Amino acid sequence: MSVIYDRVALIGLGLIAGSMAHAIREGGLARETVGFARSAQTREIAREIGLCDQITDSVAEAVAGADLVVLAVPVGAMGDLAAEIAPHLKPGATVTDVGSVKQSVIDAVAPHIPEGVHFIPGHPLAGTEHSGPRAGFASLFRNRWWLLTPLPDSDPQAVERLSDLVRAMGAKTDRMEPAHHDLVLAVTSHAPHLIAYTMVGVADHLRQVTDEQVIQYSAAGFRDFTRIAASDPTMWRDVFLHNKEATLDILGRFTEELFVLQRAIRMGDGQQLFDYFTRTRAIRRGIIEAGQDTDAPDFGRAAKTGG
Ligand code: NAP
Repeated sequence: MSVIYDRVALIGLGLIAGSMAHAIREGGLARETVGFARSAQTREIAREIGLCDQITDSVAEAVAGADLVVLAVPVGAMGDLAAEIAPHLKPGATVTDVGSVKQSVIDAVAPHIPEGVHFIPGHPLAGTEHSGPRAGFASLFRNRWWLLTPLPDSDPQAVERLSDLVRAMGAKTDRMEPAHHDLVLAVTSHAPHLIAYTMVGVADHLRQVTDEQVIQYSAAGFRDFTRIAASDPTMWRDVFLHNKEATLDILGRFTEELFVLQRAIRMGDGQQLFDYFTRTRAIRRGIIEAGQDTDAPDFGRAAKTGG
C-alpha cells in the first residue's frame, strides 16, 4: 500500500479512531499518525499501547500540519471540537468525521471550517459494543460500508483521496445525501438499538425472571439484544438526540406494525403471522447475499454492528 496522507490527526481515541490508527499503520497509509483525546487518562493509555506515532496534550498541536483530521468524538461534541481546531487547520487540509448522524454534524461543524479547508463528512458502518482506546482493531472496517456525505461544494479530488483511504482500510465506500443517510440509519441501526435497549429494560423490570433465568437461559434473541444494549451510553444518547426526526418517524411505524402483530396473536391469525415472518426471512437472505453477514451459527461470534 502507498501513503495517502502525510499526517493524519485522530481526535477522540476510542473504538473508531483506534481502529483507524491500527488500519493506517498496518497498511502504511500515512507517514505519521497523531492522536489527541480530551482526558489525560485516555491519552496515557494511547501512549502506553503505542496507538499513534505521537499523542499530543493539546488538540491544536495534534491538528497543526495535518493533511487529514478525523473527528471521532460523540456526535454532540463535534461542533465545539470544530470551533476549537478551526484556527489551527492547515490550508488545503481535509476534515472528516465518523459520526453516526450526518445532518446535525454538518450543521454543527461546517460553519467553523475555514476557507481553503475541505470538510467531507463520513460514517463507517462498523462497530462493536466496546469503546475506548483499547477497543480498536485493524480489521474493523473490512468489507463494511463507509458512507461519505460530501457537501455540494466539496472538492472532488479531496473526496476521492478520502475514498482511497477508506478503501485502503478495507471498507467499501458510497456517497449519500445527509438527510437520506439519517433516515436509512434510523431504520437499520438507530431504531433497532432503541428496541434492544427497551427489550433489555423490560427484562430488567421483570425482576422475578431476570435475576437468574433470563441470564442463565438467554438464547440468541435476548443475548443479542443485551450485546447491542451494552453499547456506549454517551454515543447512543447523542445519536438519538441528533437524529430525532428520522428516529421518531421509524419508531412510529414500528409501533403500528407491532400493534398489527399483537392483534394477529390475540385473534389467533396464524396465516398473518406466517406471511409476515416469511417476508422478513427474505430480507435476512438479502443481507447474507449482499455479504453483510454470514449464514453461520453465531454462538460466541464477535459480532459487529454499525452505529
Ligand atoms: P468511544 O470509543 O466511546 O470514544 C469516544 C472518544 O471521544 C473518546 O476518546 C472520548 O474521550 C472522546 N469524547 C467523549 N466525549 C467527548 C466530548 N464531550 N468532547 C471531546 N471528546 C469527547 O467512541 P467511538 O465508538 O469511537 O465513537 C466515536 C464516533 O464514531 C461517534 O460519533 C459515533 O457516533 C461514531 N461511530 C461509532 C460506531 C460504534 O459502533 N461505536 C460506529 C460508527 C460510528 P475520553 O476517552 O478522553 O473521554
